[in-house]
Amino acid sequence: MSDVDFSDEKYEKHREAGEILAEVRDDAAEMVDVGVSHLEVAEWAEDRIRELGGEPAFPVNISIDEEAAHATPAPDDESTFGEDMVNLDIGVSVDGWLADTAVTVDLSGNADLVDASEEALEAAIDLVEPGVETGDIGAAVEEVIDGYGYNPVVNLTGHGLGHYQQHIPPNIPNRAVSQSVELEVGQVVAIEPFATTGGGKVQEGSDEEIFALEREGSIRDRAARKALEQITDEFKTLPFARRWLDVPRAEMALRRLKQRDMVHGYPVLKEDDGELVSQKEHTIIVTEDGCEVTTRS
Ligand code: MN
Ligand code: MN
Repeated sequence: MSDVDFSDEKYEKHREAGEILAEVRDDAAEMVDVGVSHLEVAEWAEDRIRELGGEPAFPVNISIDEEAAHATPAPDDESTFGEDMVNLDIGVSVDGWLADTAVTVDLSGNADLVDASEEALEAAIDLVEPGVETGDIGAAVEEVIDGYGYNPVVNLTGHGLGHYQQHIPPNIPNRAVSQSVELEVGQVVAIEPFATTGGGKVQEGSDEEIFALEREGSIRDRAARKALEQITDEFKTLPFARRWLDVPRAEMALRRLKQRDMVHGYPVLKEDDGELVSQKEHTIIVTEDGCEVTTRS
């Protein structure tokens, strides 16, 4: 037996975050349909998380077709869903203890691409126990997706979840890799297979609506200073959306903060070949003999 106390407050808060998130993810996925507004779905989900007693751990990501991650509506966004591959990636924080989940809703007639990432995630979860190699989890993900005739996205990975930290070691690869570590009892980890009809790599696009604090410091510009105050008070080191800033001239403020390396952006990640991407993600706690999935409905 390990000395990890799974009734610890930290784990209780991870579980609470996961429970809120499972409900919000399922309801948000129900809302996704042709003609529905991206902004409406994102804001509904973020408000609902707060109503249920959490905070969004990051802006609701709504990635369409070849977008894999880091897309969220702009403040005045008028986009609506078409016959798209729609990937919702949502996070909840309860006092900085996190849950992270994603689901893909297919409006494009490519349901088996969604099945590929879902089945890959289940295969990965089945392998989890203390001592399992992350490389073996990646190999299982790759094998399932390969079996569908698709490719895993190899330069996106799952990750550990820390206190107010969205991405900490270990990385959980989406393919067989030689450099691998063992999962340990008590770790909280997000596993997130991506499947694509393309070659399996993403690169940064030019759009950027999600940001996070890099370092604190003083800045002369008034709008930038106001923005920095809100960021350090409300979001801390967690990612935030431009539309969450309550300051006038938010775009200019963010540009100034980026110039000073006080804030960094997360450009939208797109599949290299412009091909469709699906994603499925759960957060798990590694237990003595397997794992507990905190974001299962
Ligand atoms: Mn996620
Ligand atoms: Mn994640």
